[in-house]
Amino acid sequence: MSGRIIKIALDSPLDMEFDYRWQPAAADDPDPVVGQLALVPFGRREVVGVVTAVGDASDYDAAKLRDVIALRTQLAPLPPAWMALCRFAADYYQRPLGEVMLPCLPKGLRNESTVALDRALKKLAKVAPTAAGQAAADLPAAPTLNPGQQAAVDAITAAEGFAANLLFGVTGSGKTEVYLHAAEAVIDRERAQGRSAQVLILVPEINLTPQLEGSVRGRFPHLQVVTLHSQLAEGERLRHWIAAHQGDAAIVLGTRLSVLAAMPALKLIIVDEEHDPSYKQQEGLRYSARDLAVWRARQLDIPVVLGSATPSIESWQHASNGRYRRLDLTQRAAAHAQLPRVGLIDMEVNKAPDGLSPPLVTALRARLERGEQSLLFLNRRGYAPVMHCDACGWISNCRRCTAFMVLHKPERRLRCHHCSLELRIPQSCPTCGNVDLQPLGRGTQRVEEHLQVLFPEARVLRIDADSTRRKGSAQAAFDAVHRGEVDILLGTQMVAKGHDFQRLTLVGVINPDTALFSQDYRAGERLFAQLMQVAGRAGRVAITAGGEGGEAAERRAEVLVQTRYPQHPLYRALLAHDYPGFAQATLDERLSANLPPFMFQALLRAEARQLQPALDFLQAARDLMPCEGITINDPVPMTITRVAGVERAQMLVECASRAQLQAFLKPWVAALREQKSRLRWSLEVDPVDI
Ligand code: ADP
Ligand code: ZN
Ligand code: ZN
Repeated sequence: MSGRIIKIALDSPLDMEFDYRWQPAAADDPDPVVGQLALVPFGRREVVGVVTAVGDASDYDAAKLRDVIALRTQLAPLPPAWMALCRFAADYYQRPLGEVMLPCLPKGLRNESTVALDRALKKLAKVAPTAAGQAAADLPAAPTLNPGQQAAVDAITAAEGFAANLLFGVTGSGKTEVYLHAAEAVIDRERAQGRSAQVLILVPEINLTPQLEGSVRGRFPHLQVVTLHSQLAEGERLRHWIAAHQGDAAIVLGTRLSVLAAMPALKLIIVDEEHDPSYKQQEGLRYSARDLAVWRARQLDIPVVLGSATPSIESWQHASNGRYRRLDLTQRAAAHAQLPRVGLIDMEVNKAPDGLSPPLVTALRARLERGEQSLLFLNRRGYAPVMHCDACGWISNCRRCTAFMVLHKPERRLRCHHCSLELRIPQSCPTCGNVDLQPLGRGTQRVEEHLQVLFPEARVLRIDADSTRRKGSAQAAFDAVHRGEVDILLGTQMVAKGHDFQRLTLVGVINPDTALFSQDYRAGERLFAQLMQVAGRAGRVAITAGGEGGEAAERRAEVLVQTRYPQHPLYRALLAHDYPGFAQATLDERLSANLPPFMFQALLRAEARQLQPALDFLQAARDLMPCEGITINDPVPMTITRVAGVERAQMLVECASRAQLQAFLKPWVAALREQKSRLRWSLEVDPVDI
C-alpha cells in the first residue's frame, strides 16, 4: 500500500485545508482518522494540525506532497460533533477552519514534542476515579427548592431534545440551585440508562469560578469536576481539557473559551449571567460563547439554560417571540431576603466636590455605626482620568493614542489604558512650566483617598484591575470581604458580579451618567444590567435589628444612585426593579432605529500607520462586489482612532436578514483575502462595540 492522502487544518491565515501524504511505518499501522492530531512539516517548521479528511486523491501534485511526521495516536480523535462546531464557527465568523480549531486547543496539544501530552495522560491515568460518597456527611445539604425553582428544574429536565431556556431570575433568586439540580437530574437520568453524561457550565468571570466551583464540588463529591479558564497553569489546563475530551469530567466549569471544549457526552449546557459582555471574544475568532452554546445545544439536541436577572436584549427578544422558553424566578430565595430599596440622589441639588454626596455619606456612616458593610461602585479605575494645566490648557494626552493618560497616584504614574504606556507624573506642566497640575474627574483611587479622610476608622478596601494585578490577589481580597474584615468595599465592575456578600446593606453608585449619552447604542443596556447587578449584591441576607424585645425588625437594604438625571427612564425602571419594562422600551427603540436584534451586522476594521490608507482600504472593499439588499455604510475612523501609534478605521455592513448577510460575507471575505493587502484588517460578525 502506497499510503494515503490526508487533509489537515492548520493554524494559518490561508483559508484552506492542507494535503499531506501518510505512509504507514509498519504494514499493519492503522490508517489516520478524522479528528486526530498530526504533526506535519509546514514551511520550515513542524506544526500540529487536525486531520479533517482521509482519502486517496489530492488536487495537488501528489509527488510534491510532504509526509505526515507523526499522528498523536495516544489521544482519542476529536469527535465529529466538535469538528462540526468548529466548522460552524469558522463559517459563521468567517475565519479559516484551522484558526478556529487550533487556538482553542490547550498549548500542550499543539507542541512539536509530546512530552507535555504524555505526562498529562500518565497523570490522568493515575488519578483514581473520585472516591464515591467521599465525606458526604459534612456536605451542606441541598436546600429544598421553592416552587419557582422546582418548576424551572422540571421544565429544563422534562423535555427531551433541544430547548433553549431563558432563566429570568432576580438577583438572589437562587439560579445556582436551579443549575445544580438540573445538572444532577440530567446526569442521574442518563446514568439510570447506563449512559454517561457531561454538563457544561459557563461563567463570565474567572473571579467567579472559585465560588461556584466550591458549590459544584460540594454537591457532586462523587463526580469529576474540572475548570477551564485562561489563568490555569499550562499543565493543569491540558489535563482538565483532556478529562473533558475523554468524557471523564462529568462537569466542566469554565469561562467563554470552554464552550469550544470537546465533550463527547455533553447533555446540558448552562450559561450563567448570559448577558455578560465577557462572553464575547474580542480578538482572533470574535465569537459569542453564548451564541455558540445555543448552537451547540441545537446540534446535539440537548437543552441549554441561559440565566440572568437582566438578559441580553437578543435573548429577551427570542423569549418574547417564543423561540426561547422563559422560566421566571420572581423572588429572592433565602429566607427573609428582599430586593433592596433603590433611591436616587439628585446631583443637581446635592453638590459633591469629592464625589460623595451628603446623603450617601450619611448612609455610609449609619452602616459603619451598625457594623454593616457598604459597597461603592465606580466604574473607573485610577485616581483621575486626566491631568490638566489651568494656566495653558495642557492636558495629559497619550502621545501614541487618541486617549488621555490616566493619573495613578499610589503608583505615581500616568498610564494609558489603551497602549499601556507609563510615564512618571510630571513635576510641572510640560508646555508652560506651571507646577500646579490638577487632576480632573475621579477614579476609584481618588474616592478611596477621600473615604479615608471621611472615615479614618473604617476599613476600606478597593478592588479593581490595579489592586488585583498579582495572581490570586482578587480572590484574597474577596475572601477578606466575606470574612467581614472590610467595612467599605469600593470597586469597578469587578465587584458588581456574582458575589454573595453576607453583611452588605448599602450599595452606592457614583457617576453612572456618562453611559446615558454614549454613542454606543448598547451602553444603556449594559448600564442597566450593571446597576441591577451591583444593586443585587445588597440585602441577600436579612439583617435583623436584634435585641428590641420580642420581634426583630428587619431592615431592608438600600441602593443609592448619584445622578444628574433622576427622571431618566433607565433610572425609573431601576427604581421599580423593572427589567421587563426596560427591555420592552429598549426593543421598541431598536426597532424604530433599525438596530439589532432587528438588524444583523458585521464590522470590517482596518489598521495602518496613517488613517487614509485604512479608509481607502475600506472604501475599496466597499466597491469590491455588488451588494444588493445589503447596506454598507461609509468607512469612518474608530472612536479611539489611534492606539499605540496605529490608526484604525471601520465600516459597518448591515442587513435585515441574517442568512442574506452571511451569503454576502462569504464571497466578500474571500475576495478581500484574494487582494493580499499588506494592511491589517479583520471582520467581526455580530459586533458588540461599534
Ligand atoms: P442568583 O444566582 O439567582 O443571584 P444565588 O443562586 O446566589 O442567586 O442564591 C442566592 C442565595 O439564596 C444563596 O445564598 C443560596 O444559597 C440561597 N438559596 C437558593 N435557593 C434556596 C432555597 N430553595 N432555599 C433557601 N435558600 C436558597
Ligand atoms: Zn501649562
Ligand atoms: Zn496610549
